[in-house]
Amino acid sequence: MRSIPMLAVDATDVFDEIAAAKLQPRRGLMRAARAEVLAAYQGYEDAAPEVGELDEAPLTDPQKEAMRHAFTVETQPMTALRGDLLKRISVARCPFCGISESSTLDHYLPKEQYPEFSIFPKNLVPSCAVCNTRKRDRIMDEGTNVRMFLHPCCDVIPDTAFLAVHTRMEADALILSYRLTRPAGMALQTFQHLRSHFNELDLADRYRRMGLEHLGGQYPALCRAYGPGEDAGRVAEKLIEGAEDFEEVSGPNYWVAKLYRSLAGNEDFCDGGFESVRPQPH
Ligand SMILES: [Zn+2]
Repeated sequence: MRSIPMLAVDATDVFDEIAAAKLQPRRGLMRAARAEVLAAYQGYEDAAPEVGELDEAPLTDPQKEAMRHAFTVETQPMTALRGDLLKRISVARCPFCGISESSTLDHYLPKEQYPEFSIFPKNLVPSCAVCNTRKRDRIMDEGTNVRMFLHPCCDVIPDTAFLAVHTRMEADALILSYRLTRPAGMALQTFQHLRSHFNELDLADRYRRMGLEHLGGQYPALCRAYGPGEDAGRVAEKLIEGAEDFEEVSGPNYWVAKLYRSLAGNEDFCDGGFESVRPQPH
């Protein structure tokens, strides 16, 4: 759940280069659709981030097929675009979840419904396979009439704290419960948008699971901080330091930072309860 920078590339050049690289008849079909596609690009720019209810461009069925084909059957310029979009270190971690490696390009507006945006760089969001699969071809929540997902290139993600995690020890097991909270002053629609993104991508359970996995990797450091003197205060200090580092780099709603903050305040965890995250022997 974070913003990512736009790739500095000219969308019209990308269209022309890919069209030129296609074989006939698709090259001709793309060129015949060019004016409509570029007008749709402008419409997207003007509406962003509220692109959820854009009119569909009046393309013929063969033109729509050619536009989708431009993405799915790669030419050298499409392969170059994919590489340029994905190779940036700033997007290496999926911006939808903040957990996994970005290995795919998600069409924010799905290419089935909006083939005109099949190769529009701003509509191609680096994404992990889990988020891409969960998002599918959905755009709007019909119940609330808000967009279901954040657009990492276009939405301004609030920097007030809206992600929370509750941690507790229960029968020597650590229980993590992530949820969203609406900060004072946040518009209801903004909160609904965040909540939809959070729920639809199953982030509560994915953060819980990856949080426990992450803590397993921290087990030696937690032991070292605790030391032979069983210094729970030192464990809490180390967790706060870690939270501050993560917040500085990734903002106040980064799920790992939230976890460290919560655990620093959990006396049971700091006072030896971290044994519960000890990884299984190889
Ligand atoms: Zn993801």
